[in-house]
Amino acid sequence: NISTSKDQQDSRKLANGDCKNQQVLTRRQLILQHRKSLPIASVERRLVEEVRKNDTLIIVGETGSGKTTQLPQFLYNAGFCHHEKIIGVTQPRRVAAVTVAKRVAEECNVELGQKVGYSIRFEDATSSSTRMKYMTDGLLLREALLDPLLSRYSIIIVDEAHERTVHTDVLLGLLKKVQFARSHPTTNQHNFIKANAKGREDESRSFSPLKASESAKSTSLKLIIMSASLDARCFSEYFGGAKAVHVHGRQYPVEVLYTYQPEPDYLDATLITIFQIHLEEASGDILAFLTGQEEIESVERLVHDRIRQLPDGSQNLLTVPIYASLPSEQQMNAFKPAPSGFRKVILATNIAETSVTIPGIKYVIDPGLVKARSYNPVTGMESLIIIPTSKAQALQRSGRAGREGPGKCFRLYPESEFSKLTDSTVPEIKRCNLSNVVLQLKALGIDDIIGFDFMEKPSRMAIVKSLEQLFLLGALSDDYKLSSPVGQQMARLPLDPMYSKALILAKEFKCLEEMLIVVAMLSVESIFYFPREKMEEARAARKSFSSPEGDHITLVNVYRASAECLEKSKTTNSKEKTMEKKLNKWCRENFINYRSLRHARDIHSQIEGHIQQMGFSPSSCVDDMLQFRRCLTASFFLNAAMKQPDGSYRALSSSQTVQVHPSSVLFRTKADCIIFNELVRTNQNYVRNVTRVDPLWLPELAPQYYAAAS
Ligand code: ADP
Ligand code: MG
Repeated sequence: NISTSKDQQDSRKLANGDCKNQQVLTRRQLILQHRKSLPIASVERRLVEEVRKNDTLIIVGETGSGKTTQLPQFLYNAGFCHHEKIIGVTQPRRVAAVTVAKRVAEECNVELGQKVGYSIRFEDATSSSTRMKYMTDGLLLREALLDPLLSRYSIIIVDEAHERTVHTDVLLGLLKKVQFARSHPTTNQHNFIKANAKGREDESRSFSPLKASESAKSTSLKLIIMSASLDARCFSEYFGGAKAVHVHGRQYPVEVLYTYQPEPDYLDATLITIFQIHLEEASGDILAFLTGQEEIESVERLVHDRIRQLPDGSQNLLTVPIYASLPSEQQMNAFKPAPSGFRKVILATNIAETSVTIPGIKYVIDPGLVKARSYNPVTGMESLIIIPTSKAQALQRSGRAGREGPGKCFRLYPESEFSKLTDSTVPEIKRCNLSNVVLQLKALGIDDIIGFDFMEKPSRMAIVKSLEQLFLLGALSDDYKLSSPVGQQMARLPLDPMYSKALILAKEFKCLEEMLIVVAMLSVESIFYFPREKMEEARAARKSFSSPEGDHITLVNVYRASAECLEKSKTTNSKEKTMEKKLNKWCRENFINYRSLRHARDIHSQIEGHIQQMGFSPSSCVDDMLQFRRCLTASFFLNAAMKQPDGSYRALSSSQTVQVHPSSVLFRTKADCIIFNELVRTNQNYVRNVTRVDPLWLPELAPQYYAAAS
């Protein structure tokens, strides 16, 4: 056992009366104790045995039983990392990959990025000594581009498989193929591997961590599928009757309470419930499920306002947000215990449903809603909508209240509504635009997408529509094969195909700098914020960045202004902390969301790295925004809309009626023709991130789509 010798060292230091080490040891002892107390600890030997015996194993266990943090350590200690092999653990969410890796590194008493590391899009904390590697499922898919046999891995654990994200589903299909290829090195599967050999050579320059599969040989690949809910059967069937084992979790009773009436305003209802709990219930932290960053931040502000109105003795309430795009240092705040005497209320998206385990929760508030992707294969349009959760999700959420003791869950809807919920969530692959998936599979040398062994097949129409879109974007050739070089470049960029295309075109239009900013800014949620109580001030602040041409240039202006602010503070004081403080202050003054901007800056530098490696030379159109708008038109021509006599718009590709979202700078000034980036469906179809374009540019710049029509 690895930890024993470390502990012996620690005790020796302790014997020497080293005070600082005493604290360290106590923390380590606590961790050891905690590990031993987890439900999974009692079945360690059995699990290791099952992994030895079975090439594919399904592990089902309640959230919090220790699957994610413990199993890789069990397998590491059992010798599955001999010959420099790696145990890979995939997560549907970035936040889980990061927080869990940090936790496991601490449990192993090693520095993060050494034996235990993580790798997510735009962030890599691994090294050549990494043996337990947590990553997003999307990232492992990208690694397969360079190393089609995933030859460095002895075991791949697909965690949270029940979430059925589109990446998980594609990954499962791919892993099935890889597993077969690795145990049958000379069969016809060879085609599938060979098809990538060409692409690999130049790819390996940009993705350093992997050397292509020189040592693939015929070592078999172990697959472990982990899932929280009880539908192990579908995974088992998909993997040819693979064995499933159950790990029992620790679950205390949770009292579920419903409202008498449907709540017209669930945010307000959430707020009221938070304070009701805070003022009337025994101590214990609160976890409230909201649908996104904007909602979380607005509830956060409202909670702060109300705390100030409370009498002195009851102001001991603290908010902690957690959502996918929050920088990971800040996500970690959710895991810190509240200062003594304080109650913590965690405002989370469904990220806290299964992905992360936050200690101390006794109360759950569940408005019963979730933000989900929805795709219409007829129109080819994807949108985000807020929909009721499934029963499985509701149960998962309430379960969060009973991990450490009995708890309470407040469902903010009447009991009669619960029975109307669907049993489980529809897999994402059936409700999203598949262009990205299709492009990745093509890049992996898998040409027959319709025939691909998906666990659950997306509709034929959705696949055909994506093939069509990729063809229109120039990623596929006439015979629907990956085109070179545009298609290959698009597959290399870890972005939505339309954004990748925008960067490739920006090189020709000589506005790469501007497009890079736009792509980074569009990758985060809401750069601007409009607090209800300071609406006018916020509007005025945004005006100083606004471009009459639309939101894209406005975003460029914000980014440049923030860069200028950083540049200025650099000259006066170069300490990074001070600079960040300055930026934070600047953001507050300008009603810019600091968290989003930070995230956008990170993404910017990561994509910049990618395109530099791909040999794109920097270019800027400086003030020639006409050129930039033409480039936007050439890239986003599939999302164009024309103004109608009544002031609404008609999306040209789908003939849907859409409105410009109130958050757009073009909300009032109605341009005749626009391109947009996002469709949001609430009571209406709204388009967001909108720029005015000349309708004549469409047939000129996208003749493959518009010439025939006009
Ligand atoms: P599972 O994957 O079965 O849901 P995990 O391995 O994620 O379980 O977590 C097991 C336990 O480890 C949790 O109940 C929690 O007590 C603890 N834990 C996990 N991650 C962290 C963390 N980042 N900080 C503190 N404790 C953690
Ligand atoms: Mg887990």
